[in-house]
Amino acid sequence: MRLSQYFLPILKETPKEAEIVSHRLMLRAGMIRQQAAGSYTWLPLGKRVLDKVCRVIREEQDRAGAVEILMPTIQSADLWRESGRYDDYGKEMLRIEDRHGRDMLFGPTNEEMVTDIARSYIRSYKELPLNLYHIQWKFRDEVRPRFGVMRSREFLMKDAYSFDIDYESSKAAYDRMFVAYLRTFARLGLQAIPMRADTGPIGGKLSHEFIILASTGESEVFCHRDYLEMPVPGEGVDFKDAPALAQTVEQWTTPYAATEEMHDEAAWNALPETERLAARGIEVGHIFHFGTKYSEPMGATVAGPDGKETPLFMGSYGIGPSRLIAAIIEASHDENGIVWPMGVAPFDIGLVNMKPGDADCDAVCERLYGELQAAGHDVLYDDQDTRAGAKFATMDLIGLPVQLIVGPRGAKAGEAEIKLRASGERETVAIDKVLDRLK
Ligand code: ATP
Ligand code: MG
Ligand code: MG
Ligand code: MG
Repeated sequence: MRLSQYFLPILKETPKEAEIVSHRLMLRAGMIRQQAAGSYTWLPLGKRVLDKVCRVIREEQDRAGAVEILMPTIQSADLWRESGRYDDYGKEMLRIEDRHGRDMLFGPTNEEMVTDIARSYIRSYKELPLNLYHIQWKFRDEVRPRFGVMRSREFLMKDAYSFDIDYESSKAAYDRMFVAYLRTFARLGLQAIPMRADTGPIGGKLSHEFIILASTGESEVFCHRDYLEMPVPGEGVDFKDAPALAQTVEQWTTPYAATEEMHDEAAWNALPETERLAARGIEVGHIFHFGTKYSEPMGATVAGPDGKETPLFMGSYGIGPSRLIAAIIEASHDENGIVWPMGVAPFDIGLVNMKPGDADCDAVCERLYGELQAAGHDVLYDDQDTRAGAKFATMDLIGLPVQLIVGPRGAKAGEAEIKLRASGERETVAIDKVLDRLK
């Protein structure tokens, strides 16, 4: 992408309304724009990051055996009356009336809708296990939308729903998602800690929140230091091996970890002081096992091996991709801007032409731009006629992992400079060697 043809509305001033660093940087880097309280447009740079985060989430959901669908944002209130949640949900639910006077709502979550899908199609235990997920916009009329996309009213959620014939198999489904979540957050460059959690309006008994430690987090959390070192299952993890997955989950849930609501002072105080980690955290994911809470009232039953109709055992599994982006920035930035981990950077390489109009610079940049793209790199080429200082500041602000800098002297000598955003390391490389060097 040529910057001259792109839309990257960088802000020079630090926006006053932004209280935390991720919000400030997302606004300054031209990733998002607020449209109303808690609702944001994703500008091109932000949209690219959102797509990359969703791609990682999708790959790990698919690997764990979940199947993607797409349910609507607007739901019928009748479904929610069947589960009893229409009245319980309260003011966070945005209620809408259509022209026929029918009660509708903008979905804050999809348990009812997906249970309706299951009861319409699944007849027998032989069709199980099944896990359906979608990545769709949600609306929750938060009392205090704040911190940009960290707590917005309209936000993106990946929500998955598992269906099984009994407790044992639904616990295995829970374990698959648990492990998929560990992998997802690790791939996004984040250290997420699963903590026993309150189930809130979703319901059920078994539940974990995945928390990123950050000083700007809204929850107070307490956990064992061991979590900082625990190995995350690799790409080869076998999602069919239920006992092995259960063991991984066991290992990840044994050391103490709890949010404020579930905190147990006695258990905490029993830990040696040096092993305790009390911090603030951001909830980036939340998984629930709630058994027959929805299937029973909504009549989602299937025939078991004995031919008897039994209600489906269910769980639901949420991740907030939009909040995750803010969490990644909270965890990875410096005084000059964002430092993207490789897998989610909007572009891998920022190519800086220090002197557009200089014949050598232009020729070298055009060549590198073409070759790098042909080699499969996502390149943002700053071909604009602006000051070199401003170009460097923009590149640092938007945080692409690699900067490739071409100036008139280097271009004449057949050289370019590679700067790594994370470490600041610089290296001069012959133009012919750039491709090899960036492999
Ligand atoms: P919170 O405690 O922050 O209000 P929640 O517990 O209400 O979140 P869940 O119902 O567990 O949220 O939803 C699953 C995921 O959706 C959360 O873990 C989070 O990543 C994301 N999410 C929830 N609310 C918001 C929001 N207002 N803005 C952005 N992401 C959100
Ligand atoms: Mg909430
Ligand atoms: Mg919560
Ligand atoms: Mg939650």
